[in-house]
Amino acid sequence: MDRAACERLDRADPLRALRAQFELPEGIVYLDGNSLGALPKATARRVGDAIRGEWGRGLIRSWNDAGWIDLARRVGDDLAQLLGAGRGQVVVGDSTSVNLYKVLSVAADLQCKDRPSARVLLSERSNFPTDLYIAESVAAQRGLELLLVEHDALLAALGPHVAAVLWTHVNYRTGRMLPMAEVNRAAHAHGAAVVWDLAHSAGAVPLALTGAADIDADADFAVGCGYKYLNGGPGAPGFAWVHPRHLRRLEAEGGRQPLSGWMGHAAPFAFEPGYRPADGIQRFATGTPPVLALRALECGVATLAAAGPAGGMAAVRAKSVALTDLFIRLVEDRCGGCGLTCITPRRPEERGSQVSLVHPHAFPVMQALIARGIVGDFRADPDGAAGSGILRFGFTPLYTQFADVWAAAEQLAEVLSTEAWRDPRYAQRGAVT
Ligand SMILES: *Cc1c(COP(=O)(O)O)cnc(C)c1O
Repeated sequence: MDRAACERLDRADPLRALRAQFELPEGIVYLDGNSLGALPKATARRVGDAIRGEWGRGLIRSWNDAGWIDLARRVGDDLAQLLGAGRGQVVVGDSTSVNLYKVLSVAADLQCKDRPSARVLLSERSNFPTDLYIAESVAAQRGLELLLVEHDALLAALGPHVAAVLWTHVNYRTGRMLPMAEVNRAAHAHGAAVVWDLAHSAGAVPLALTGAADIDADADFAVGCGYKYLNGGPGAPGFAWVHPRHLRRLEAEGGRQPLSGWMGHAAPFAFEPGYRPADGIQRFATGTPPVLALRALECGVATLAAAGPAGGMAAVRAKSVALTDLFIRLVEDRCGGCGLTCITPRRPEERGSQVSLVHPHAFPVMQALIARGIVGDFRADPDGAAGSGILRFGFTPLYTQFADVWAAAEQLAEVLSTEAWRDPRYAQRGAVT
């Protein structure tokens, strides 16, 4: 494989036209769409119109006239298509952390009612920390135990004592992906509910939460991020999904989620003093929707919907597998003996859309790469020496080119072989890594 071969792959790529949807700075190879997706060209105009027209001229009338009040539901329905979920099953708004608090609380409450002897919330030690911090609160409020296990120990840790499992579908550190349907089946066999965090899956891998004709993951609850592969912009609203069987049960039993705000009320503008939950997923809403951020997220979700005619999420996934596979092979060929260890599975069905490489000086190596225009990110090893950790490279099939993969591997090989990372300026840290 050489640069010319990568350029040939780009010319043959069925998704190549979709890159033009994005504002990508010259001279940058952007491999951090798993942390913050790139800016869609449509976003600045759409948000500008929402500010000047809908807000500036329409003022309060825009809640009705511009459809602000239904915007979260409409974006949720667009998003549902990417998640393999049905209309009216996805609510958009709040952060992933807050959405997780809501759905994990509901999962725990339903389980406490049905299976009072199941006292354990089970998660992964290397889960994204906010998920674990939220799970600590949910467990503490109900006197449950939060049990953290290693990635490989999940299935073995299941049992009648487990009330709910909280798992991130694609691990943020390793890029490792779990077989969702298999985990759900195993957990359900023990009576446990499964809450999935789709932060690194939504917009990156095909999902079938409620099931398509031939696949049905049969999950219980899910949450995810709007600003990663969904390209919704910094701090974009997250989302929550609840299986219709649980929604029906909540309706039948008048069940509520813990942040019972007016936007989740059956009649918000009746201004009743008592809370009555709305039907369906709407009860998972809390406060006033962030309209400007929703306009941006709408544009981000549309960049993925645009892949529909070229094969949709299946085509996105096929290219993602090809990009990550190419990167792993190029790094092996060109950086052998440079002290890198790839911790992302080689088998494509076991990984998401990122490649993670461990290096004893990962922090300055990434800074040196960024200085050369290859933008990935660094994740610290909480138990390791300063500077050691993970070099993360995220591949976004809508805009990442095979030639970008080539350039990234070439620069990485050079930074390591010349030890350019030893320059003291690459040791300086900002607040965000
Ligand atoms: C990115 C990410 C989050 C972020 O949560 P916020 O509430 O949006 O800050 C949560 N969980 C996982 C697994 C993530 O990857």
